[in-house]
Amino acid sequence: MNTRTLPDTLGFTPAVGDMPFTPKQRALLALAAELGRTKFAPRAAQWDETASFPFANYDDLRDAGLLKLCVPESHGGLGADYATYMMVAAEIGRHCGATALTWNMHICSTMWTGVLADGIAMTDAQRAEHVKRRELHFGRIVNDGAIYAQPFSEGSAAAAGRAPFGTTAKKVEGGWLINGRKIFASLSGAANYYGVLCTEDKGDEHPDARDTLYISVPATAAGFSISGDWNPLGMRGTVSRNLHFKDVFVSDDEQLMPRGIYFKGAQTWPAMFFTLAPTYLGLANAAYDFTVQYLRGEVPGEPPVKRRMYPTKQIAVAQMRIQLESMRSLFTRAILEAKPNPTKDEKMRLYAAHYSVMEGANDIARLAIRTCGGQSMMKHLPLERIYRDSRCGSLMLPWTAELVLDRMGRETLYEPGEKDEA
Ligand SMILES: Cc1cc2nc3c(=O)[nH]c(=O)nc-3n(C[C@H](O)[C@H](O)[C@H](O)COP(=O)(O)OP(=O)(O)OC[C@H]3O[C@@H](n4cnc5c(N)ncnc54)[C@H](O)[C@@H]3O)c2cc1C
Repeated sequence: MNTRTLPDTLGFTPAVGDMPFTPKQRALLALAAELGRTKFAPRAAQWDETASFPFANYDDLRDAGLLKLCVPESHGGLGADYATYMMVAAEIGRHCGATALTWNMHICSTMWTGVLADGIAMTDAQRAEHVKRRELHFGRIVNDGAIYAQPFSEGSAAAAGRAPFGTTAKKVEGGWLINGRKIFASLSGAANYYGVLCTEDKGDEHPDARDTLYISVPATAAGFSISGDWNPLGMRGTVSRNLHFKDVFVSDDEQLMPRGIYFKGAQTWPAMFFTLAPTYLGLANAAYDFTVQYLRGEVPGEPPVKRRMYPTKQIAVAQMRIQLESMRSLFTRAILEAKPNPTKDEKMRLYAAHYSVMEGANDIARLAIRTCGGQSMMKHLPLERIYRDSRCGSLMLPWTAELVLDRMGRETLYEPGEKDEA
């Protein structure tokens, strides 16, 4: 039996576009749209203006069960799969970019340990260890509504996947001793736990990316601190400050993945790095939606001045729609075929989808401002914030726009292991 239903029963076109949804996807999309429209969009200017964290939105996400969206049903979560998360995240991004982007960091801590880990080969002992430990983390989210952050970046080539992380974890009796520093840690000061990527310090002075560990540090741990200003161009509500770890002791149970598994996971499951994209697909939709409303003279609180009769504006809207449709098509194809060990073509499409969304969102926002004109970029309207927020997408490691081009070019022209003659 076909359990997928057509989307027109939703009463709106979701940010991912029209496609057949399962009943569960439809229900979650409706929930995200309702929260976004009634709660997140009206509050978005406030977090942006003060560069403060959207705590009220997180209370709503928690109440709606969306903090446990990707925790398996067997552990008390909603059991959403990868594609479902990506659809729902785009819907949230349409109403508040900073909420969607930070929520992605939290959700990823459940997807890396959940669906991603399930698709990676492990020994029986590793699997048993992982199943036992993730129960603790899932329990914190399901029972206590805990928030997890995902601080990977260090300002080196590590977050780009080109060097071992400089933050280290040394094995000690009963746990790990963490030392180092992270930059751009979204949810800093808001998260209850920080899922840190670090390199096992084996004392031999030859750090190796294969020894990457994924360990959660409680916000209350001794030796953990947060520093630095946060006054960026866009995504101001993410509050992505610096984290410091000075001989921070965490118990063995804080290990989010067994030794060596993160490295395997990053190679096996490239689509996990695509999870940053739905926020920006949502922003592209928001810029487009605003433009249509504005040109029709239907923005609430604004004079009902129509600008739709000018052919140049009609052409610009058509161009925006063409770009949006092509982003949606690539995005939905990529989320539906996401899996461990994709084929080369699937991987290329994934890169192409990521690049199109991350660069395209800001392109659409730029066209929106040009088309709507000067009055549309006033601070009391959302467009200028969407423009600034959307600028951040192509800067996100490990798949910045530059690095995606770099990977696509190289991986197209060279098969694995191939080299040029000297
Ligand atoms: C709003 C926002 C929120 C963020 N939240 C988080 C978060 O929660 N967790 C987290 O871990 N990070 C987060 N980041 C950090 C983000 O992923 C990047 O790490 C950060 O923007 C990179 O900073 P940078 O430009 O100084 O990097 P740099 O390392 O200086 O890189 C600059 C550019 O050089 C290129 N580059 C870098 N390394 C290489 C290489 N080895 N080879 C070729 N080219 C390279 C890349 O294209 C990159 O854009 C966030 C960033 C932003 C803007």
